[in-house]
Amino acid sequence: MSFDKLGLSPELLKAVAKQGYTIPTPIQEQAIPLVLAGSDMLASAQTGTGKTASFTLPILHILSKTEIKGRRQPRALILTPTRELAAQVSNNLRSYAQFTNLRSTVIYGGVNQNPQVKALQQGQDIVIATPGRLLDLYNQRHLSLKSISMFVLDEADRMLDMGFLGDIQKIISLMPAQRQNLMFSATFSGEIKKLTKDILNNPATVDVSPPNSTVESISQMGYRVDKSKKKDLLVHLINDQNWNQALVFCRTKHGANNLSEKIDSLGITSVAIHGNKSQGARTKALADFKRNKVRILVATDIAARGLDIPLLPHVVNFDLPNIPEDYVHRIGRTGRAGADGVAISFVSPDEKNYLRSIERLIDFSIPLEELEGFYTPKKPSKKGIARGEGKSVRKSTSSGSSSSSRGYKGKTTSKETAVAKPKDRKPKKRWY
Ligand code: AMP
Repeated sequence: MSFDKLGLSPELLKAVAKQGYTIPTPIQEQAIPLVLAGSDMLASAQTGTGKTASFTLPILHILSKTEIKGRRQPRALILTPTRELAAQVSNNLRSYAQFTNLRSTVIYGGVNQNPQVKALQQGQDIVIATPGRLLDLYNQRHLSLKSISMFVLDEADRMLDMGFLGDIQKIISLMPAQRQNLMFSATFSGEIKKLTKDILNNPATVDVSPPNSTVESISQMGYRVDKSKKKDLLVHLINDQNWNQALVFCRTKHGANNLSEKIDSLGITSVAIHGNKSQGARTKALADFKRNKVRILVATDIAARGLDIPLLPHVVNFDLPNIPEDYVHRIGRTGRAGADGVAISFVSPDEKNYLRSIERLIDFSIPLEELEGFYTPKKPSKKGIARGEGKSVRKSTSSGSSSSSRGYKGKTTSKETAVAKPKDRKPKKRWY
């Protein structure tokens, strides 16, 4: 299908063509006609599927067809959990809106509010915002939500993880009850389902990937590694496989800083991005990474939310996330819009429960291997010997049951990483 079959205006089709998009992604193909028809929508779509255009394009279409009465007031509100995602949605929206006469602005915390207030005073059609700053400016009477007719809750699952439920409820109470609502979430917990009932009115559902599954184009694998050897393993992989760029996830801000400083001191340019950094520092870090001035971006989950890094070939889970859904979000940073990517997890013995939870969530057994010198298998107990555990690293990877059960043969050299995609699902057999 081509874009011009979706019912979008010539101004929007021109902007889409200028972006170089030739065919709509599956979520765009399904969502755009539904939104144009005025339906509420619940979409299960991960970052990297083209979901931003799936709601911004029809919003622009609808708003440009409706007449503005009196002073320009925001008519569409897009809520996102993080500043980075808000900025990214805003950038995309502006490029799609360039041939229309619609105005949009972005509002988030961590920066001086004055330019945002000024932009609101000039009159806007669309506001993209994080909940806290939006309510701040509302309470200071810098904006009204009385004319909102289209509302988008993006990455709703992350909103709830970040404790925004109260803010969301408050914001909803400030908008007219009569409006079109679109909600996006990569994962669906009971809480999300409840929120869905509160916000959406008879929604159409769009499912471009089954909930809690991982994007098909992403290959996933992991290394068993001693906790103390993780940094060395990362440096080894970067050098040995000659990685151009990678996004590396750590669980804590301190861990992210520490790792980034260490690898940078070894001559591999790196920068950390996390919630303790100022908005300016985060924006600069991301810009440097995008411009290839920095090779390794080390991030925490919250800071990385919504980062748009096209065609990122490697995502590394330096620490496994303790919230299994974060694994899905993390690896969504690679294999974007159909491009292939590899998600590599470093699994130390203390993280086996995290691995178990992730594998249960994604219903997929992540193939694991070891590289010599980076992993010390536990000394076998007498019971273990009876069960055939505790073989040497080489043996356990070349002929052990764990490797064959995970669908790849023999020990790989670090240059040829063994990977598996979700579609190569294998019967589960654990290494631990
Ligand atoms: P998103 O999931 O909205 O974050 O989009 C992921 C990436 O895909 C962004 O870099 C978009 O610019 C890009 N993208 C969105 N729609 C298309 C399309 N139809 N064709 C090619 N790339 C696209």
